Amino acid sequence: MNKNCTHPSLQCLNQYDLIRKYQCEFCKEVMMCTCDREHGERFLPHQLKFGSWYGSRERVPVTLGFQDNTCPECRGEKPEAAPKAPMHGATSKIARYYWREIFFETTKRFYDSHPEIDPNERGLSEFSFPEERRLIEKQVIEEIKDLHEISPKYQYNELSQSEVISQTNTEFVLVNVEHVKTEERKVGIRDDNEIVTVEEFASRYFKRLGYSVMHVESVPFHVLFGVFMFLVIQDIGDEKGRFVQFGSRNDFDSGRSDEGPISTVLPDDFGRKSYYERQKELVNWHISELDDPEWLFDYWLGHSSDFRQYLWAHRDSDVSKAKEVMRVLGLENLKKVLHYLSMDYWGNFCGWPDLLVHNDDEIRFVEVKSKNDKLSEDQKNWLLGNHAHMGFNATIFKVGKA
Ligand SMILES: [Zn+2]
Ligand SMILES: [Zn+2]
Repeated sequence: MNKNCTHPSLQCLNQYDLIRKYQCEFCKEVMMCTCDREHGERFLPHQLKFGSWYGSRERVPVTLGFQDNTCPECRGEKPEAAPKAPMHGATSKIARYYWREIFFETTKRFYDSHPEIDPNERGLSEFSFPEERRLIEKQVIEEIKDLHEISPKYQYNELSQSEVISQTNTEFVLVNVEHVKTEERKVGIRDDNEIVTVEEFASRYFKRLGYSVMHVESVPFHVLFGVFMFLVIQDIGDEKGRFVQFGSRNDFDSGRSDEGPISTVLPDDFGRKSYYERQKELVNWHISELDDPEWLFDYWLGHSSDFRQYLWAHRDSDVSKAKEVMRVLGLENLKKVLHYLSMDYWGNFCGWPDLLVHNDDEIRFVEVKSKNDKLSEDQKNWLLGNHAHMGFNATIFKVGKA
């Protein structure tokens, strides 16, 4: 450890944290920015000791507490935008980009006007007064909106859903059907005399067209990545290798502690674009040499266990689904998937579509959307990445209201 390190390059552990933590790439110390100190100590004292990495959720202690000039803004750099996915009541760009600023300011104003309430005592909190809190929040949003007009802190650089669809030649299917409210107050779709979910409705639609249908989403692809890439990623000759320790995911699932913590070696830039830049040759050679995936899958499954646990790609149901996906894809398509994930694992691991549909002639990824549902940023990222790097056929299947 170097006491004189000036922390020239800092990596944010998780952009979605309220009090963000940063790790120095050189001395590896973890710290927070002084500009968050007042708010953190007053309202979130229990969030100042540990941080966890986005993606792996690996927990790391904050070793240096608050330090000056840590966040990009205090360092005079452009703050990185971390927009939240559109949610109920928070679909505007202001609410999605400035969620942290809005939350901080709303909390502060609430407790400033209620000195009798201790934010760190159990019992009453700002959320005990939803109506009053909502009014304060509305006021804060209005003010940030005005401020954004004059000097925007974040640049909105997202493509709209329709821009993404047209740029990626994604097929768009709209089927209008009768919607019904079910007992669990979920949306149901009438299909002949049955009430089914939106996903099930889409699945039946493709089966009637002669396709076989698998529900996939992202995790089976994480399994494939873990099984086929652990040898390269965990290469013992990698100078950037370091020990990581994390809680067993099997223990997490069972609620017991049979396995205890897992220690394994990973490069400290794993999952970033910079990792791929550094190891491109090795990664591409490894992928190009893959052969007989059926045999390799079984052979490497056990050996890749630690790495797959790290990726949360450990569950038996996901493993068997991954094997099915591998068979449907075939070797050449599998290689495309592995390459796409290797390029930027934490950037590309989310947003995989709901369904993989296939027949003898075609493989197609299908994202299912109900009537008010829009593509998330992760899903847009997948469609753009697929178009640029994998080239699978893609469909957005939207169930509208008749
Ligand atoms: Zn440092
Ligand atoms: Zn700062």
